[in-house]
Amino acid sequence: MKKIITRFAPSPTGKLHIGNIRIALYSLLFAKKFNGKFLLRIENTNKLKCNDKYILDIINIMKWLKLNWDNKKIIFQSERYNRYNYILNKMLYNNKAYYCICNKDKLNNTKKIQISNKIKPKYDLSCRNKNINILHNKYVIRFKNPLNGNVIFNDLIFDKIIFNNNELDDFIIKKTNGEYTYNFCVAIDDNDMKITHIIRGNDHISNTPKQINILKSINLKIPNYIHIPLILDKNKNKLSKNSDNYIDIFEYKKIGIIPEAILNYLFNLDFNKKNILFIDDMIKNFSLKNINKSSNIFDEKRLFWINKICIINLNVSIILKYIKKYIKEYKLNLKLNNKLLINIINVYKYRSNTLNEILENSNYIYNELLINKEYFFNKLNNTKLVRFIFNLKKNILKIKDWNEYNIKNTINNSINKDFILKDIYELLRILLTGKINNTPEISNIIYILGKKKFSLRINKIKSVREDLNL
Ligand code: GLU
Repeated sequence: MKKIITRFAPSPTGKLHIGNIRIALYSLLFAKKFNGKFLLRIENTNKLKCNDKYILDIINIMKWLKLNWDNKKIIFQSERYNRYNYILNKMLYNNKAYYCICNKDKLNNTKKIQISNKIKPKYDLSCRNKNINILHNKYVIRFKNPLNGNVIFNDLIFDKIIFNNNELDDFIIKKTNGEYTYNFCVAIDDNDMKITHIIRGNDHISNTPKQINILKSINLKIPNYIHIPLILDKNKNKLSKNSDNYIDIFEYKKIGIIPEAILNYLFNLDFNKKNILFIDDMIKNFSLKNINKSSNIFDEKRLFWINKICIINLNVSIILKYIKKYIKEYKLNLKLNNKLLINIINVYKYRSNTLNEILENSNYIYNELLINKEYFFNKLNNTKLVRFIFNLKKNILKIKDWNEYNIKNTINNSINKDFILKDIYELLRILLTGKINNTPEISNIIYILGKKKFSLRINKIKSVREDLNL
């Protein structure tokens, strides 16, 4: 069998959204399933709309998600003008393309008339069979699309798709400013990169006959097409890189969604798997047969839920690596050692959806606490209770084998009937974490803080009492 080659071909006109990532993921999985290659091409011919900063974003996100492309080299359309010129000259010579000098006013006028006559707007072919003098005129170069017959292709998801050539336009290949246009470049690039299967969103279905016609006009091979239904926003609108509704992967990275969550969220749109899968397992499980023909609506809650499941179930060493990278990238001044971080992860993974939430929920460990003196006034007025707390501290500091179990036992053995358990726990929580709610078990808190911090925070009672004149 011929080696399968796929590609991901984003245009750097905005940030990548979740739908783009799905296309990249599926293109990689399909190629790797058949031991093929997955390539990356940046479609940056439109100088006005493309921005180099988005190229960097694309590369960073692909690397972060470990969607590794083959051949190391990235193909940039902006570097392929010689090749495009060569092909276009051949097409002009063979009468497959032509110069057009129709100006904007004329084109707009034709369009208006067509619309008022309820005809689908299309170029009226006025320059198609003329000998055009381009010397003193602004011109574009148009493709000579066949006037009759059909373009038929067999989409591997949507089956047979037919377009009538008379519905298609003599579209512009080269603009007045010299820039080449999408349908021409894609057809040439896919051919030159030996792409066997084009996987992309089904919003591109209407472009496919144009690309096929270009390839046919220069006797190049037609690849296979796999159009994937889109992911829509909650209002069932198409995600767009340039509008507010795109689901920006960078934003999710910023709040501590991990790569496995994004990939598993996407994979699960079509493949109902109970476990978290790594790329290798996804490759094994991937099959075009499973891909649904209908669109999906993006479900943020589900992404967060999958993130939580990933954080809970993945080996703590993986989460440690992610959280360290996350701290480096977004919380630069936080210095926590591995042991403390592992303890934090183990305790907080059950009560956090994201890496950021793990750090926020546990921030009392590394931040100075603000003491709410009013709250303490009543509690610390009770000398019996204060004595009890200091006694408890003494017992806890005596623990040799520092673990949650021993800490819990020590607390339970110290409690006596004079105090209500709830009161003691509440006071300890406030002293140790500054919070009453959303904190783990008190023995866990003391364990993570360690003897030194635990002791210092209990000792705060003394200064607070002094401040309150108790
Ligand atoms: N550059 C196109 C886009 O970003 C994709 C083109 C293709 O996959 O053929 O939507």
